[in-house]
Amino acid sequence: MFTFVRFSLLFLAILMCINLCALAVGSHFPWFTFAHILLADSTMITAYCLFLFALAFFPCTNFYLPVICHGQTDKPVVAITFDDGPDTVKTPVILDILQKHDAQATFFCIGMNLARNEHILKRIFAEGHLIGNHSYSHSNWLDLFSSAKIRAELLKTDQLICEIIGKRPLFFRPPFGVVNPTMNRAVNMMHWQTVCWSIRSFDTSAGNPEKKIERILKQLKPGAIILLHDFTPFTEIHLARLITGIREAGYTIVALDKLLGLNPYA
Ligand SMILES: [Zn+2]
Repeated sequence: MFTFVRFSLLFLAILMCINLCALAVGSHFPWFTFAHILLADSTMITAYCLFLFALAFFPCTNFYLPVICHGQTDKPVVAITFDDGPDTVKTPVILDILQKHDAQATFFCIGMNLARNEHILKRIFAEGHLIGNHSYSHSNWLDLFSSAKIRAELLKTDQLICEIIGKRPLFFRPPFGVVNPTMNRAVNMMHWQTVCWSIRSFDTSAGNPEKKIERILKQLKPGAIILLHDFTPFTEIHLARLITGIREAGYTIVALDKLLGLNPYA
């Protein structure tokens, strides 16, 4: 598999080969100086860093850590997931819609949102939905935290969820879907299974909701995982239509544990 460690070792090997070749061949050319090697090295290292930076935004490549982005199935089943809750006002509305349509979903919750919303978390759990860990702070800078600090974030959220529902979640979704080697170390220290998505709804951005729904439905495949957010007007207004559209397309909506065949709690 094409991973960060393998790619870095390959890059170092290529860099060393180029340097050795340049030193060997360059001595035959009077115009060749050490500055040429430095320029080539700095260009390659810059390209390497840019490549690593870009891959942080593509978790499904499994480059930095193992990430599940869809279920391995031929059956027409998909999962709906909600990030960034629980939201005091919006999450109960989402739960009402799910209840009305008899659909199970997975909620990736932010730890600091739990303090005033314990009753909502209890309701999510009581109504058969799954709860996953979405960090404690959802900080914009989380990916710059040390692995110990990321781990502390995840453990704190795990602990809060466990105090409320009596279960420790095993599914973790990185904020913004951004991953890096530090996060890999943090996740590896414990038992979390990192889960992202195969269909992004873009429900947090402006745009024609009809086109968003159409785009989601067009991307449906067996095992698809759809990313939504609890708090957006799009989700509140259009979730019912989305559920209906998914079912009309012949798909069954299941919670992540059923889709992935994994335990959601320790
Ligand atoms: Zn999020």
